[in-house]
Amino acid sequence: AAEAGRDFIRDIVQADLDSHRHSVIVTRFPPEPNGYLHIGHAKSIALNFGIAQEFSGRCHLRFDDTNPTKEEQEYIDSIQADVHWLGYDWGKNLFYASDYFERLYEWAEILIRNGDAYVDDQSQEEIRLTRGTLTEPGKNSPFRDRPVAENLDLFRRMKAGEFPNGARVLRAKIDMSSGNINLRDPVLYRILHATHPRTGDKWSIYPSYDYAHGQSDAIEGITHSICTLEFEDHRPLYDWLLDKLPVPSKPHQYEFARLNLTYTLLSKRVLTELVRGGHVSGWDDPRMPTIAGLKRRGVPPAAIREFVKRIGVAKANSVVDVNMLEFSIREALNKTSLRRMAVLRPLKVVIENYPEGMSEEIEAQNHPDDPAAGTRRIAFGRELFIERDDFMENPPKKFFRLSPGTEVRLRYAYFITCREVVKNAAGEVIELRCTYDPATRGGNAPDGRKVKATMHWLPAAQSVPAEIRIYNQLFSKPTPDAANFAADLNPQSLEILHDARVEPAIAEANSPEPMQFERQGYFVKDKDSTPDHLVFNRTIGLRDTFAK
Ligand code: ATP
Ligand code: MG
Ligand code: MG
Repeated sequence: AAEAGRDFIRDIVQADLDSHRHSVIVTRFPPEPNGYLHIGHAKSIALNFGIAQEFSGRCHLRFDDTNPTKEEQEYIDSIQADVHWLGYDWGKNLFYASDYFERLYEWAEILIRNGDAYVDDQSQEEIRLTRGTLTEPGKNSPFRDRPVAENLDLFRRMKAGEFPNGARVLRAKIDMSSGNINLRDPVLYRILHATHPRTGDKWSIYPSYDYAHGQSDAIEGITHSICTLEFEDHRPLYDWLLDKLPVPSKPHQYEFARLNLTYTLLSKRVLTELVRGGHVSGWDDPRMPTIAGLKRRGVPPAAIREFVKRIGVAKANSVVDVNMLEFSIREALNKTSLRRMAVLRPLKVVIENYPEGMSEEIEAQNHPDDPAAGTRRIAFGRELFIERDDFMENPPKKFFRLSPGTEVRLRYAYFITCREVVKNAAGEVIELRCTYDPATRGGNAPDGRKVKATMHWLPAAQSVPAEIRIYNQLFSKPTPDAANFAADLNPQSLEILHDARVEPAIAEANSPEPMQFERQGYFVKDKDSTPDHLVFNRTIGLRDTFAK
């Protein structure tokens, strides 16, 4: 079945098929709708949906919506859009943990009746303090040996909404001296008077992650419940609950290493604070590691899938160099993106020997490696723009671009020579007076004379003004401190160029795929763009200039 990169989870799946332990593989991706998806989620999505595809099984999208104080419909909608955009489809298999609230409740009563759960009146703080530590056992709650009838009565009254938030919880009765802290009578239900996006005000108690998750897996017939390593210690509890309850199937939990990236924080808490604190413009700010941010930035979904495939699936946590993601983005874009010319920081050039009022059309290739991509025409005339960085009045030795007296090639057009530098009162260069050689049309001199630089350019009149947004890493440290992330924000993460010029073919483009602005990188029109005010995002530069 699977020919794509093998990993230990796929090996387990294959072995389970070979041994006829399962005939159909069922996985799930279980986001909590308390934020937008990020690139770490993409790893989990690619793993769960990828396995279902490769082994002809199915993958459920299940919203783990058990905490109404943090969850919103906006997040539910964005998660569905982002999974689709990444190229995966759950078909009819869309589920909500909240759909199981009734059954989860009935099962909790079974635990109580069998003496496997009790209502505890201690506060959350008391419960935390009596849980013990790795070296010290926990202490039994004074309510641990409550009679079954009293537990049932109190639990029903918790459900009926008789008690305020935090007054009581339902706990599993396992072992307060277990070496695994997760087995020290974990909380199964807490009181929460909150309106749920789907169940409204019907419930005033909500199940914990540990209680809801495994039982939801069992209800849906999940065969391989794949989660991140921090849940490894929860597996004994996952199995304990499945053993105690009349569940219709027995899923197994497997753990893999979560994705961490340099210069990036992948925690919904931090991402939420970045948005709420106004450090970014929203969940889809192109500097965000969210799927929505990457999309807006112009990153193609194929680049994300390829990146996730390259990093593989391992059992040990590690930090992946963000350059690996950038490599996959460049690779994907280089193959297909159309080549265009834009001048980010324009410097005016007047070709003195080019007749005034005249103009001509120059043919330019849309993709140098792909003749099928065709050509376009660009106007050439007496007044042009070049990139400010491509000129130096007093150049150092190895500077081969334009300077007084030197000759360079304008891409697809002519050789030009700089004759005179015009400055303003402040001494800044504001214009170059140049001459061109009409015999070099197309970019070659009949006398075989060579130039050392080819530069992009645009016609002054027939180019279009644009704003260009250049993004750098959101954090200035390779491993930002999640606890104090604001201190590690990169003050230069967004650079706005207000006076850029683009060729008409760029201005007219409406594709979500970025174009390559020659010598600059890949750029895509932003959603803030209007016909009167064009805005482009730099998806990524041509080569790695950051983080050596
Ligand atoms: P966060 O820590 O950002 O709040 P989470 O794990 O609480 O993330 P969920 O919505 O519960 O967020 O995640 C859904 C699924 O995505 C889970 O199965 C989780 O293990 C997986 N996931 C979350 N973050 C990562 C990551 N960085 N790498 C791989 N998988 C991840
Ligand atoms: Mg979670
Ligand atoms: Mg979370």
